[in-house]
Amino acid sequence: MNRVFRSKLALLVILGGTFAPYGLADGETAPARDPKQPVDAAYTEKIHKYTTQPYFTSPLVDYLPASKTVPTPQVVLGDVSGAPGILPYAEDVYKYMRLLEKATPRVKVFSIGKTEEGREMIAVAVSSEENIKNLEENRARLARLADPRTIKLDDAEADKLVAQAVPIYYITGTIHSPETGAPTALMELAYRLAVDESPYIKEIRDGTITLITPVVEVDGRDRMVDIYKWHLAHPKEFFPWLVYWGKYVAHDNNRDAMGVTLKLTENVLKTYVGWKAQVLHDLHESVPYLYDNTIGDEPYNAWIDPILADEWQIIGWNNVSAMTKFGMPGVFAHGDFDTWSPGYLMFMAAMHNGISRLYETFGNGGADTEERTLQPEEYARTWYRQNPPLPKVLWSQRDNNNYEETGLLTSLHFFNENKRMFLKNFYLKAKRSTLKPTAEGPAAYVLPADEPRPGLQAELLQVLQKQAVEISRAKSAFTVMVPAKKSKESSAKRKEKDQKAEKAEPPGPTTREFPAGSYIIRMDQPYSRIADALLDHQYWSPDDPQKTPYDDTGWTFGELFHVQVTRVTDTKVLDVPMDRVSEVRAPGGVKGDSAVFAINNNAEPALATLRYKLKDAAIDAAEEPFEGAGRKFNRGSFLIRNVSRADLDRTASELGVQVTALSIAPSVKTHPVRAARIAFIHTWLSTQTEGWWRLALDKLGILYDYMSTQAVAKIPDLNAKYDVILFPPVGGWGGSVNAIVNGVPTAWGNPLPWKNTPETPNLVGKNDSTNDLRPGLGWDGVARLQEFVHKGGVLLTATDTSSLALSLGFADGIRAQNGNKMKIVGSVVGTRLVDDSSPIAYGYDEKGAAYCDNGPIFSLSSIAGLRGRRRIGPEMHARPTGRGSADDPDFTVGRTGVEAPEEPKSEIWESPPVMDEQKRNGFRVIPPAIRPRVVFRYADSKDLLISGLVEGGDEIAQHPAVVDAPSGKGHVVLFSINPVYRGETWGTYSMVLNTILNFDNLNAGRKDATQ
Ligand SMILES: [Zn+2]
Repeated sequence: MNRVFRSKLALLVILGGTFAPYGLADGETAPARDPKQPVDAAYTEKIHKYTTQPYFTSPLVDYLPASKTVPTPQVVLGDVSGAPGILPYAEDVYKYMRLLEKATPRVKVFSIGKTEEGREMIAVAVSSEENIKNLEENRARLARLADPRTIKLDDAEADKLVAQAVPIYYITGTIHSPETGAPTALMELAYRLAVDESPYIKEIRDGTITLITPVVEVDGRDRMVDIYKWHLAHPKEFFPWLVYWGKYVAHDNNRDAMGVTLKLTENVLKTYVGWKAQVLHDLHESVPYLYDNTIGDEPYNAWIDPILADEWQIIGWNNVSAMTKFGMPGVFAHGDFDTWSPGYLMFMAAMHNGISRLYETFGNGGADTEERTLQPEEYARTWYRQNPPLPKVLWSQRDNNNYEETGLLTSLHFFNENKRMFLKNFYLKAKRSTLKPTAEGPAAYVLPADEPRPGLQAELLQVLQKQAVEISRAKSAFTVMVPAKKSKESSAKRKEKDQKAEKAEPPGPTTREFPAGSYIIRMDQPYSRIADALLDHQYWSPDDPQKTPYDDTGWTFGELFHVQVTRVTDTKVLDVPMDRVSEVRAPGGVKGDSAVFAINNNAEPALATLRYKLKDAAIDAAEEPFEGAGRKFNRGSFLIRNVSRADLDRTASELGVQVTALSIAPSVKTHPVRAARIAFIHTWLSTQTEGWWRLALDKLGILYDYMSTQAVAKIPDLNAKYDVILFPPVGGWGGSVNAIVNGVPTAWGNPLPWKNTPETPNLVGKNDSTNDLRPGLGWDGVARLQEFVHKGGVLLTATDTSSLALSLGFADGIRAQNGNKMKIVGSVVGTRLVDDSSPIAYGYDEKGAAYCDNGPIFSLSSIAGLRGRRRIGPEMHARPTGRGSADDPDFTVGRTGVEAPEEPKSEIWESPPVMDEQKRNGFRVIPPAIRPRVVFRYADSKDLLISGLVEGGDEIAQHPAVVDAPSGKGHVVLFSINPVYRGETWGTYSMVLNTILNFDNLNAGRKDATQ
């Protein structure tokens, strides 16, 4: 604030008396303190001291009201919220919230569940004494608005409830652990809301219930505070990066709102839905100084109610406007975040008829006050950011807390002023969700009772149940109309065809029958939108003006879980007699009795669990399909002996696996299925992406030893201890060959320990530790891994670790390349089974789907060490320039024509045939029996896109997706897809599990084995 402006302001205040300089509308309450309420002078002075510029605060937070009975955050923090050098553990934050609860009837603390590592999560309700007393009564009112079926969709009845109900605004902090400011801001916010008697705050308190989860990622918060404490104790040294946040994943903890696999997602979702809240507002820190990113940019998620899109604008722009009037720079709403993916935590509100909101404020990743220099695009003045951030500032945690609290208070106030509208909208969105079958449709999704993968079907349905979606089961068989599929051909082409075929009838609608017991997900329920969003297909146009999708573009759960899901538009499906299902479980157990039991293999992950659970049973895999006990069994089906029927029955029932007793064992070739001893490798650079693999294996009960690249390099004989080494994707900058092998340079700087010490009691948790994060796999480690494979071990890699294995020459006859123009951004793509006799393919169908994020693109070669370009299709070989038409042979003048030998043909995914010239002294020709074996490939170009964005897909179409490359006595199994991702890709888990279970028989069924 410059001097001229300051003096003008003073003059206005003097002249105006009650005039407030904020440009208020008639009747609007001024955001100013109550002059009759005393101020906590010492606390207020500290606020001013730690705020680095007068314009980094607002009249809402530049003082703290005093209370004789209610403690301020200082009692726990030892200083004010946002003070430099102070970052509280979650426990301290909770301690303060519970002190508030004790001191005032306006605050109540609820335990909302535990994290993976057993830490508590809480929600703190702040409102008037009366509202807190009547929480349950109010919840009942909100519940009726949330489910309009309870009031028979009667708008008049809804209006009565809207007039009486107190809305709930739910704020969540610190899901991203290096974004550290929210807990102290939320402690102080709770105090202000409970204590401040200014009319502005009192209105919020009396009219709205503010619900606060101050720390969402509790495990990660405690680690982050440890690191910060380490940093304070070693101020001149570099400090370790936060390699683990929660037990499993880091930044992706905010991408779990579809699969709901993490405790934090489940706990917040339960709280949000259970309280029937209207808003879920999640606090992040990255962008200067406050970016309300929910308004963001196109494309908006296609399944949200347009009412919500309007609400985003209404609240968001008001927020910008209010803070602009305070003179706070760098507050804006538009930006490059698209709201396409429903995977973000806050988006649970968007998909459950509420309002999702998200702030990015400016954090320093700790509580140091630091000089921060911005990039030109960050401080540029744009149409949506008329008062941009400053190019260079001294920035404190207090500044960040001022922005967070001011943003939240203005939002709460605006929300409260308009609460009748927002409550009515809440009802309307629920009502419109319930009317979905007859509005935009569909009427229901059906998952048939004769699904060959009932275990995977149950997994998918359980996700929907976590999402609070109602599931029903048909009591009898039923038939629905299926509309005719629209032709993809252009109308001109169709016309031409019609003329040719004279009286060609357009294809009419057909019918489809579903057996009794089929699952029906009715769309006439309040939470139909989340079910629709997860089960429908996604299409992101390559022509979309948005060229940088913020996250995944496709996620269709039926495809990724490898189960049948039918979108039914025929509303008659809703009349089918059905029962609501409370618990979905795949049926399992043993039928009959004998010495040999069989389990059909449909690539269900539960088979691997069963193998690991029944340690002493002898299990074999059939290398060919067979028939027994009147039914067909697929290749790879289990034959089980040496197990008591009772044990098998108990385990199979638990796992939802159906077992058939066979009177005689089938006469097919078999090999043993063993519970491989697994080493699971992570880097110290990033544990983000491998975390999803650990989570999946833990859930399935697959045992493994978890170790870093540093540790694996120190094991002298890997083969003595392990059969399979899993090296899942690293992701990001950590995934390059240089980074994995060399780690972070140790030529300068100090060691960066990751271990528990008195300074850092929470760092390790249940994961791993090291004296120095920096060293990588090293060349010793590379040699160990290669030796492991050569001596008969199986190394399994995916995406960037596949590229690493190939760059290091672990397997020959296969190359990995990046696309040139290809853009596949977290999409669901089609796959095709190439070699159904490979054990990796056991239980899979010819057509499948997988998650792909730009490859890498694999190409095979029959020549060892051959460099070359990505293979291109035969259609791209044109004839050379010469005489004649396109199909004619050329001629040489003065010579009789010589027919060139026909070029041997091969498919894109195959090894090209060896040319005559290459066979001359062909010491580099790889013998067929040890060439890479393609198990799955990407679908043809036209079938590649299933959901999401596929641009330039020709580059990867038909190329290998999963390859088993023999190397020495062992194998490297390379994935171009990521088969284990965010709890969303259950359908491809078995590609990994099959590799594990058949580790010592991967060559089974090799057709060229004798060549
Ligand atoms: Zn964040």
